[in-house]
Order: sequence, then structure tokens, then C-alpha cells
Amino acid sequence: MRPFRGGGAWRAALPLVAVAYAPPPAPPHPPAATVAVRAPAVVSRLKVTVLSTMLAGDPGRGIGEWGFAALIEADGDRLLVDTGARPETVLRNARELGIDLAGVEHVILTHGHGDHVGGLVTLRTALRARDPRALAVAHVAPPIFWSRPGTDGSEQNALLRERGAYEAAGGRFVAHAAATELRPGVWFTGPVPRPNAERNWSGLRVVRSPDGDVEDQVQEDASIVVNTREGLVVITGCGHAGVVNILTKAQDMLGGRPVHAVLGGLHLFTATDSALAWTGRELRARGVAYLLGVHCTGIEATHRLRGLLGLPRAAVATGAVGSSFTLGEGIDPLALGR
Ligand SMILES: [Zn+2]
Ligand SMILES: [Zn+2]
Repeated sequence: MRPFRGGGAWRAALPLVAVAYAPPPAPPHPPAATVAVRAPAVVSRLKVTVLSTMLAGDPGRGIGEWGFAALIEADGDRLLVDTGARPETVLRNARELGIDLAGVEHVILTHGHGDHVGGLVTLRTALRARDPRALAVAHVAPPIFWSRPGTDGSEQNALLRERGAYEAAGGRFVAHAAATELRPGVWFTGPVPRPNAERNWSGLRVVRSPDGDVEDQVQEDASIVVNTREGLVVITGCGHAGVVNILTKAQDMLGGRPVHAVLGGLHLFTATDSALAWTGRELRARGVAYLLGVHCTGIEATHRLRGLLGLPRAAVATGAVGSSFTLGEGIDPLALGR
């Protein structure tokens, strides 16, 4: 895995040059240097399929819940993002959709809320019998392990409640404090800076950080960025860091490329009209051509954004269980979201 070096600058290996014993006369112009710059990997085949969200897309295939999970298929690699809310939902939905999650070794947990980590132990336990490596590695940002003490002293961090059982089942966490390339062209953002005042959290809770108890702003919130030939495809869990902050980080990571598609939960279901208008302008300025609003994006917010982005019906949809985005083809929302 390649850690992010910052600033969109990609490290180049500079060849050693033999130094002459006497300096030649200075040329009139600087000589052209040949520097081998390693370009970031580009994904050419990508499909993202929703496995947990509020709506069921087709009769008889999947159940809805307040949760999120999605399967990423990128140039032959498969990764799971989040695991739904109820222990059995993603396992059941995948089976009904004809998707076998055995063989998926890596899961990304965008944050520690129960509607994203509820299926982790069930999936690992159910799949390991057929594939010992299935969901054996969980990628997270370090603040996901900060305690969320309840007023009664109970632990409100859902991931901490699942951690022991997951590790006992052979699962292993890998914490990334900075952006990291998980597979060629598939990036984990790590914690996302928040220069824009997008407040996508309750403000009612406290989290136990290394510096003491502070407001729970879901500091661990992280997303996935896929660097495709069409531009960046960004997959969010709940978007607690703010979708514009997330897209800003994605573009900073990958040389300012335009954002081709945004898929996932954007936590805009309570957003005001003015907040939606600002978000729409920012997404439009970044080149967003597809939006699959899933989970906490909100049905009204998704439809408002379609208008604000000036995109056609086929390019913006409310996602359901089984709905998908395919690079080069666009969104298949299934029956309900058309
Ligand atoms: Zn959340
Ligand atoms: Zn959520």
C-alpha cells in the first residue's frame, strides 16, 4: 500500500548523474530534464452495487433498512464498503442479488456508527467457513477507536462493541491516519479536513479523543476514491465530513482531477434549501456527472441536487438495494428509483 505524500505531487525516482570534474559552460537555457514521473494508477472497469440502504429496489430481491453497504468491483478487485445495520441484512441481500461475498478479503468501514458496522461480525463468521480470508481485513481511520461514552457510562461506539468478536473470528483492523492506496487506483481518504462548515452530525454527543473529551464530530469519517479514466468516483458512507470537504480531499489527493460520480450517503436529509443550493453549486463546479443518493442523502435532497446540477433523470437517482453504478454505462437504479 502506498501512503499519500501530499499536495498531488507524485514522487519521481531521480536517476543518479555522473558529475564532470570541470563544469561545462552554462547553457543559454536550462537543459531539458528527462524525469520519470510515476502517474497514479487508473481504473478502467468499475462497478459499485448497493447492498444496504433504506429502499428495496425490486420485488423479492433484498430488504431495506436504515444502513449502508456497497460492493466495489474495480479491475477484478472486489472490496466491501461498510456492512449495513442489522447483522443479517448484507448477507441476505447479497444472496438474493446473486452476489457471493466469499473472496472479498478487504472491508472498508467509513465510520463506527451502528448502521455501518452492524453486519461485520456476521459476515466474517458466515463467510470464513468457505473462505478463511473473507472480510479478514478491515480498513479504518484511527479515531474510529475513540470511546463514545453515553450519559449512563455505557459504550456508544458500535465498532468498539463489535471489535472483540471480529478479532476473535480472525479479523484484523488496519488503521490509516492518512490517505492510502488500497488497490491500484482505489484510495482510502483517511480522516477528512473540514475547511467548509458542513455540520453533518448531531452535536449532542462527546467522544474521548487523546486530547480529552470533545464534541463528537464523527472525526473518523472516511471515504473511498476510485481514480478512473472518466475522473474520480467517490463512495461515501454517511458523509459526516461533508460531501464538499470529501470531494476537496479527493481532488487534493489525485491532482485535482474532476469528480465523475458521487455514490453513497451524503447526510443531507435535514439540509436547508440554502445548504442544498450551495452543495449543488460546489458539486457542479467539480464536474459531477452522476449522483446515486443512497442511505442518509435523503430522497428530496437527491432530487433537488438533480436540478441544481442540471443533470438528466438517468444521471441522478435515489439508490436502493441492488442498484448500481457502472463506469461507461451510468446508473441502474432498479425498478423503484427510475
Ligand atoms: Zn453515521
Ligand atoms: Zn449512516
